[in-house]
Amino acid sequence: MDAKTYPVTRTDAEWRAMLSPEQYQVMRGHGTERPGSCALLHEKRPGTFTCAGCGQPLFIAGQKFESGTGWPSFDTPVEGAVETTEDRSHGMVRTECHCSQCGSHLGHVFPDGPPPTGLRYCINGVAMEFEPDAA
Ligand SMILES: [Zn+2]
Repeated sequence: MDAKTYPVTRTDAEWRAMLSPEQYQVMRGHGTERPGSCALLHEKRPGTFTCAGCGQPLFIAGQKFESGTGWPSFDTPVEGAVETTEDRSHGMVRTECHCSQCGSHLGHVFPDGPPPTGLRYCINGVAMEFEPDAA
């Protein structure tokens, strides 16, 4: 599937062991969680969203916005943390995004976000962990 080698690589068996079945389906099988199904959608505390596959910080809470789609949405990722590829599955051309460190699928990027970036990173909540800032 991935021709590229990532700094963090795991075998399929290792991924299955460390991820929940839903996480595995999204992150390694390019699946999509049900909209509104993830608690992170409603996470509003200051903090950092990290990759559930390798722990890399992906998004800062201040970049999260309410898109109304049912998926956590961000206008900017942490620099260098999220890579994109063209996704031609399901008869559409979309921009897929994944963790730059372990290659796990995160979601898609759409060009209808708020200023200044105009981008909407539409991310599966199960692909991330949330670490609140220390009070
Ligand atoms: Zn990762």
